[in-house]
Amino acid sequence: MARPYNFSAGPAAMPAEVLQQAASEMLDWHGSGMSVMEMSHRGQEFGAILKSTEADLRELLAVPENFRILFMQGGGLGENAIVPLNLSRGETVDFVVTGSWSKKSLKEARRYCTARVAASNEADHHTHLPAPATWQLSRDARYVHLCSNETINGVEVHELPDLKALGADAPLVIDFSSHVASRTVDWSRVGLAFGGAQKNLGPAGLTLVVVREDLLGHALQICPSAFDYKTVADNHSMYNTPPTYAIYMAGLTFQWLKRQTEGALRGVAAMEARNVAKADLLYGCIDESAFYSNQVAKDCRSRMNVPFFLRDESRNEAFLAGAKAAGLLQLKGHKSVGGMRASIYNAMPIEGVQALVAYMREFEKTQA
Ligand code: PMP
Repeated sequence: MARPYNFSAGPAAMPAEVLQQAASEMLDWHGSGMSVMEMSHRGQEFGAILKSTEADLRELLAVPENFRILFMQGGGLGENAIVPLNLSRGETVDFVVTGSWSKKSLKEARRYCTARVAASNEADHHTHLPAPATWQLSRDARYVHLCSNETINGVEVHELPDLKALGADAPLVIDFSSHVASRTVDWSRVGLAFGGAQKNLGPAGLTLVVVREDLLGHALQICPSAFDYKTVADNHSMYNTPPTYAIYMAGLTFQWLKRQTEGALRGVAAMEARNVAKADLLYGCIDESAFYSNQVAKDCRSRMNVPFFLRDESRNEAFLAGAKAAGLLQLKGHKSVGGMRASIYNAMPIEGVQALVAYMREFEKTQA
């Protein structure tokens, strides 16, 4: 039976193949007689799952050897505290504010260190990206925080800044929660990346951290041991019980990602090509219409989260009801901005975006 297309911002749609595989292994994982949920995290079986999950992720994202991959808990908001607890040394850090999530990160960091705003797009309601050359970076910052995809505002950083070229010594910390694995990452420009799994990687409950080794071992005294990156790294993400089932589901998603091809492209590069095509199709529909609009500057529009508005907002409920009837789910915009939002993560096939675009054109016609 065909399932509806689900445009949720997260927790979000997962590939049907992954869900089917999990269902088939639910009661008995690989002849072990156990569900993955029932296994000791220290047993041989889960050990094998963790190992291959980490190796597949390292391969997919081309994570260099001098970076550690940590599977943690607490989500993106947890990391808003955990990053300054580990990296700030209680001193100065810089923030680039590009939308709701980086604003939240800034506020949380201020509980642990002196967090400065190096640049902000708040004055234009988070619709453009301040050019890196204009950032007012501190000489002594311990790190620079950037949300590389703002899920609510639909603003994406398409090229990570080269902080060294900007005269800054600090490592770049990115919150890549909502576009991880949708595109390649230039690790030469990154010190640490974190993200919740519940958009592009798997179910909620797992937080991914990829951190350069030299940044480990500087946690503040008050940092909880379970959140000290060095402790987590030294214990291979097993200092405390990791979110075993969520890790397993992410592992199945990574195997699915490795199987994806687009012409000569494979894995994340194949996804990136597809994601470009999906986003082009949807923004094209919005831009050619006088009925729909998106406010974000074209050079920083998100390929993952596409917020849009109906010219006649009194039609919002009718739009959503018609969409649901047409098998297009969870298109309502975030409560803080209103309107609509279509999240088109890796698991959304081009056919889903085509169906949405066809529905939008049809709905517009009925409004004439
Ligand atoms: N950062 C970004 C970019 C997000 O999209 C989200 C969740 N939508 C968060 C942080 C917060 O994540 P969590 O709810 O897992 O703490």
